Amino acid sequence: QIMKKKVLKFGGTSVGSIDRIKHAAKIIKKESDLGNKIIVVVSAMSGKTNELISLSKLVSTNFSKRELDVLLSTGEQVSCALIAGALNEIGINTKSFMNWQIPILTEGENNNARIINMSVNKINDYLASGGIAVVPGYQGISSSGEITTIGRGGSDATAVAIAKIFDTDSCEIYTDVDGIYSTDPNKIPVAKKIEKISYEEMLELSSLGAKVMQSSAVQTAMIYDIPLQVRSTFTDRPGTKIFNKENLDYSKAVTGVAYSKDDAKITLQSVEDKPGVAAEIFEPFGKHHINIDMVIQNVSSDGKTTDITFTTKREDLNKSLEILKKNTNIKFKNLSYKDNVSKISIVGAGMVTTPGVTYKMFRALAEEKINILAISTSEIKISVIIDERSTVKAVKKLHNIFKLD
Ligand code: ADP
Ligand code: ASP
Ligand code: MG
Repeated sequence: QIMKKKVLKFGGTSVGSIDRIKHAAKIIKKESDLGNKIIVVVSAMSGKTNELISLSKLVSTNFSKRELDVLLSTGEQVSCALIAGALNEIGINTKSFMNWQIPILTEGENNNARIINMSVNKINDYLASGGIAVVPGYQGISSSGEITTIGRGGSDATAVAIAKIFDTDSCEIYTDVDGIYSTDPNKIPVAKKIEKISYEEMLELSSLGAKVMQSSAVQTAMIYDIPLQVRSTFTDRPGTKIFNKENLDYSKAVTGVAYSKDDAKITLQSVEDKPGVAAEIFEPFGKHHINIDMVIQNVSSDGKTTDITFTTKREDLNKSLEILKKNTNIKFKNLSYKDNVSKISIVGAGMVTTPGVTYKMFRALAEEKINILAISTSEIKISVIIDERSTVKAVKKLHNIFKLD
């Protein structure tokens, strides 16, 4: 066996209790006993980050973003020390490195920064001396020395960044499921494990709600062609390989079904129909950093004006309504919204070469009497907005109709 340099990332549930931490330590030891050089990336113990967010809210509904990052980064610090301690306990030479000790350099605002670089010397020297480095996911330090976090689920992004910057031979994501499934196996038990998936498909699935991999981590992996392996901390079964699609064959049109419940739908009725209205409506959203997802425009019932429906993130709903009400450059008769909607998406690189997928999806939803409120498509995905109550029914039906069961 040739010696390899590896990133092993353990998610929240994988370090969720002392027993689990000891178990993760055994996996790390096994890899180390094979002669590999290992950088471990850890998440906070499961539930910890949410708990810390709740604490901040008890102190203030307007808690400083700077202090929130100081607070949230502690979750990963705790698991780093516990993992390193557990490794020491079984006779392994190891050390934790905090974000500022490495340092992991980030750019961008608090709570939503990105990793731009890392110094490799300290850790490489330590690996060369035979030690295992334990690094906290989800955080870094800005050029002005402030502690930052990089967005929820961000330990995945840390793992990928380390794989790139340290030029490791592999990046293994250890989690509580044994791979990527055709849909969330914890919600839809007939979901099937996918052996190999392309970066593109994984990126769509992640962005559309499959939280098993953070989408910006997948994006970085895709840009730099860093193959990822998603596997279980709790079983030995082989996981899923996420890699360059040239190596895949596409026998199925649809690879997976994803859903999310974080959208809201807004409709402006009887908008004046003339050039430039859409621009006037959406311009202020850009200024307020609110993303618009789907947009549908159709003729109003009076035949002269137009109705415009669009979706945003649910957390941006109130701000969006405010923006529309304040916008004196647009005229409309009525403003309505719905926040109990969900977005259901089918994803598959095979769609490109399979005609009729769109029709099949809509027909299937109609058979279940599910009303489609908005639609958006790209080359390898189709998303629809539906009533939130029909989420599971829709996912099950699509999963079945596209033969993923
Ligand atoms: P970790 O704490 O290890 O980062 P996460 O909770 O972030 O783990 O992600 C794992 C979870 O993602 C699984 O428990 C599963 O419920 C969910 N999930 C959603 N969609 C999928 C999918 N298509 N395949 C596998 N897991 C999925
Ligand atoms: N602990 C962070 C979170 O819960 C990062 C992660 O788990 O990846 O979002
Ligand atoms: Mg995660």
